[in-house]
Amino acid sequence: MITDNLWEIRQAIQDSCAFAHRNPEEVTLIAVTKTVDSAAAKVLVEAGITDLAENRVDKLLEKQYNLKDEPQIKWHLIGNLQRRKVKSIINQIDYFHALDSLSLAAEIDKRAEKVISCFVEVNVSGEASKHGITPDELLPFIDQLSQYSAIKVVGLMTMAPYEANEQEIRDIFNRLKILQEDVRQRTLAHAPCTELSMGMSNDFPIAIEEGSTFIRIGTALFKDA
Ligand SMILES: *Cc1c(COP(=O)(O)O)cnc(C)c1O
Repeated sequence: MITDNLWEIRQAIQDSCAFAHRNPEEVTLIAVTKTVDSAAAKVLVEAGITDLAENRVDKLLEKQYNLKDEPQIKWHLIGNLQRRKVKSIINQIDYFHALDSLSLAAEIDKRAEKVISCFVEVNVSGEASKHGITPDELLPFIDQLSQYSAIKVVGLMTMAPYEANEQEIRDIFNRLKILQEDVRQRTLAHAPCTELSMGMSNDFPIAIEEGSTFIRIGTALFKDA
């Protein structure tokens, strides 16, 4: 049952926070609904989940339409976004988690009718298959984003390789935390960078221990849906 899974995840979040001496209210659970239909998403919303994520533009718009009676939902776009699709989605979401190029930033800036809260995606692991800028590129990239008045860098996002061991995952998340602090300490108006989007079903306890503030959970919620 989805609600049982949710209960277990909430318990695990509490445990990780207690272990890391963190306040559980600092960690937002984002339900990644890309593998399930709107009815399953609605079950979660009725159980108190306020943040939903999709990785495809068309799927997000479809869920949003089906859940239009739930205006409290915060919508997160977590996947790679093609420039030609920016116009149709960017004013419909609350957070975009995969900003990784200036050309995409320029297109978002052009189409935005409000300030868009973005996470810069960083490819910390260096895996060729992953999106995101390299750690070395991060500070210059953040500086260049200041020219786009509609872009607000709320934080950084990364994904650990699926096959990495616990220590490797921890190192990756810890490196993202250090990069986030580097940016935050610059106190840039366009890049407060207070948040960290890291941790999925198989690694969210480690992510919480390393400072994550947004965890993105799909499989663990919907494994038997
Ligand atoms: C699918 C997806 C998730 C959720 O992954 P699970 O392992 O199913 O929890 C998180 N982040 C991104 C970017 C995804 O595409």
